This record gives sequence, structure tokens and C-alpha cells, in this order.
Amino acid sequence: MTEITRFAPSPTGHLHLGHVASALAGWRAATESGGRFVLRVEDIDTVRCRPEFIADLYADLDWLGLSWPQPVRRQSLHMDDYRRVLDALDANGLLYPCFCTRRDIAEAASAPHRAPDGTMVYPGTCRHMDPGRRAELLAAGMPYALRLDMTRALQWPGATALTWHEMGRGPQPCQPQHFGDVVLARKDVPASYHLCVTHDDALQGITLVTRGADLMAATALHRLLQHIMGWPAPRYRHHPLLCDASGRRLAKRDGAVSVRAMRAAGWTPAQVCAAAGTPDHISAVSSAPGSH
Ligand code: GLU
Repeated sequence: MTEITRFAPSPTGHLHLGHVASALAGWRAATESGGRFVLRVEDIDTVRCRPEFIADLYADLDWLGLSWPQPVRRQSLHMDDYRRVLDALDANGLLYPCFCTRRDIAEAASAPHRAPDGTMVYPGTCRHMDPGRRAELLAAGMPYALRLDMTRALQWPGATALTWHEMGRGPQPCQPQHFGDVVLARKDVPASYHLCVTHDDALQGITLVTRGADLMAATALHRLLQHIMGWPAPRYRHHPLLCDASGRRLAKRDGAVSVRAMRAAGWTPAQVCAAAGTPDHISAVSSAPGSH
């Protein structure tokens, strides 16, 4: 099957080997099938995302030998698209405004539940808010997030029988209820990762999503949004996360393993790609090959 794949980084830091693994997974699946590899910049978080990281991202991917169609979709330039999705969900009674601060949430949850992605499950305070009080707060300009009413969303026809297709494993049961009432529009940004990623995968005709296993749990939620919005369901391939020699997951904060640092230390593109292809532990990636 001809695959349309994507690499969808958030430019909050320099590319590291984990990103390279994700980008290569998408690149290989697309090129081996005679398909297309799309680059998308997930930069809705205007505080954490920085233009210089976008420029560096293009430069690093280009240096690695990857290419992609222009123009690149930058999510921050398409907030109207996400607004329309929110309007559609709202028109179906699936959203409600949440005025809670982090502190309110922590205080309201006597025994806080964690969602499969580690975030705190919302205790539902604002879902039960008296409509008059809600109107008052909205009129007063109180900042709010928009949350999905998970109970209602699961009443959508067919919503409780969903599966997603994991390559090599087949259909996986979806249990989005474990996420509770997730935020679909943040207080500071009128959209959220879950909303934008599912919208854009549909818009860009992505057939195969390749990404790190840390995002596997969220797929149940993405599948629910796709179902409610009537978007096609791509297939998924979640790859293992790269770890350093001590078994710690590679992250942007580890500047030593950024592609930038490896380039500066004399690595070649082929060597970086080979290192990213190492499924388990990568040792001493901060020093140039030959020096260890
Ligand atoms: N933008 C997300 C990130 O950088 C990845 C999105 C995805 O692959 O679904 O973590």
C-alpha cells in the first residue's frame, strides 16, 4: 500500500536522536511504498515553541537527507481550522468550559487518578456547574479551557466499540474513558495537541502514523475524535523510545544528543541515522564516532 506518512515535531528544542528515529520511520515507510513523507510543525504552544528551533529543524532534516513537500503546515497559522472543529463538537453538546486552575484541580481530586499518559484525570468540577454561574463567569471574561465531556462522547453511536490498527499487532481496543474530560482548547492556546494532531492527520490524508511509543496510549483518544468527526482512521506504528546508556529515555533537555551537537562533533548523516536506528541503548552518543 502506498503510504502517506508524517513527522510532526513540536519545535520546543533541538532535534535529538529520538526525533530522528521517528522521522526515519515515517520517511522509510513512505519511500519504500512509493508514497509521500510530510513534515508538519506542531507549534501551537507559542510560549514553548521558538522560530529558531523551526529553522534548525529544517536544516537538520535536510542535512540528514530527508525532503518533504512545501509548504510545510505550521499549526499556529491555522487556528481557525481548529476553532471550527471545536464549534462542531460544541454544537453536539460535547464540550464545556472549565475555569479551574491547576490548584483547583489538585484540591478537588481527593485521590487523583492518572490518565494513561500520566496526566491527571479531571475530577469534573466544571461539568456540573450551575448554568447561571457558568454564564456569569463567561460574561466576566474569566479564562477557561474547553473540555471534552467524555461520558457524552462515549454515547456517540459506535464510540464504545472502537479499535485502532497497530502495524504488526492488528486491531487494538480503545479505552478513551481512562483519559476523562480532556482539554481540547487550553486556556492559553485555543486548541490542544489531541485536537490538532487528529485534525491535521485527516486533512493531510495521513495513512500511517509513525511515532514514539509514549504516544501510544493517546491513540485511543485520537481514534474517538476521528470517529466523532467522521475522519478516516490512519494505521499506526509506535516505535520503541530510544534510551541512553543508563536506560533513561532521550529527551530534548539532553543537549548532548541533539543532532546539532552530533554534527558539531563530526558525525556524518549516515552515522546519525544508524545511531537512531539502534533500537535499545545508545552509549556515548555525545562523542564523535572513533573517539570512543
Ligand atoms: N508533536 C508531537 C511531539 O513532538 C508529536 C505528535 C505525533 O507524532 O502525534 O511530541
